[in-house]
Amino acid sequence: MLHIIKKILINFFLFFSLFLISNSKDISIVIHGGAGWFASMTEEEIDGIEKALSKAAGLGYEIMLEGGTSLDAVEKAIIILEDNPLFNAGRGSVYTSELIQEMDASIMDGSDLNAGAVASITNVKNPIKLARYVLEETDHVMFSSNGAERLAIEAGIETVSPSYFYSEEKLQRAKNKINTNSKKGTVGVVALDAYGNIAAGTSTGGMTNKTPGRIGDSPIIGAGTWAENGVCGVSGTGHGEYFIRLNVAKEICVLMKYKNLEVKKAAQLVIDRLKSMGADGGVIVLDNKGTPAMIFNTPAMARAYKNSTDYTFVRIYKDH
Ligand code: ASP
Repeated sequence: MLHIIKKILINFFLFFSLFLISNSKDISIVIHGGAGWFASMTEEEIDGIEKALSKAAGLGYEIMLEGGTSLDAVEKAIIILEDNPLFNAGRGSVYTSELIQEMDASIMDGSDLNAGAVASITNVKNPIKLARYVLEETDHVMFSSNGAERLAIEAGIETVSPSYFYSEEKLQRAKNKINTNSKKGTVGVVALDAYGNIAAGTSTGGMTNKTPGRIGDSPIIGAGTWAENGVCGVSGTGHGEYFIRLNVAKEICVLMKYKNLEVKKAAQLVIDRLKSMGADGGVIVLDNKGTPAMIFNTPAMARAYKNSTDYTFVRIYKDH
């Protein structure tokens, strides 16, 4: 008898959780792998970028489907891209004018507006892990250079030698002072989980040939990254100085929150404004229902989107 009651209870709970999941928010995830020209990329590289974006979207989605949070999805999806040398983040970071790699990253939890960011770090394998550590384990929002690297060691977050990030091709670009727009590769993820929480994160090596110590928009909360439950989540890529000056990520959410603009319109307005200031770039955005916007004013932006349908949208160029 007890056995039967137990079985009924288990079935009831199973049914109830399935009911909750199917009636919860539409889990969705949107990813970018940088805005720019992508003109000098080989077919193999393009294929590699598309596969990595699809893999990151799939992993993030699965995490949330199994009950994980959008913060988990954002961190884990970004790690996949940071570990892939095709992107300008983590392993594939570009070089400064003094031929070192300085990385920036940030992550934001839209449920309480808590955020973590790191800037100008040179030896942390996955900057986004350290950013999440700052968010969850410290009373602060942003750490830079030596202090951030010390924090990584204290936290037991993996550090590596400069050879891990080595790329002859990227080194030559910096040596020859080719500040080319042809290859980009900053990465960013925005996710909405079944609990209605929006999270966003961005990770980058910054701009080729940047002056040592220069920090772009990616680790600046409100500029390169923003997440606010009930409103939207944003990750940006492009000419960081302008993203900071315009507060791009927050600006999009503000237009949605106070002017009731729908997600694509809000993103387009801000990206157009960037263009009018002479800046290139793009954003990925999710609204509170999981509707995506992937807007850019460059010929291309590597991007992917996944929700409850089987299809994963992956594109690099504008029209194909
Ligand atoms: N926004 C990044 C920076 O300025 C670069 C990029 O997204 O391509 O550091």
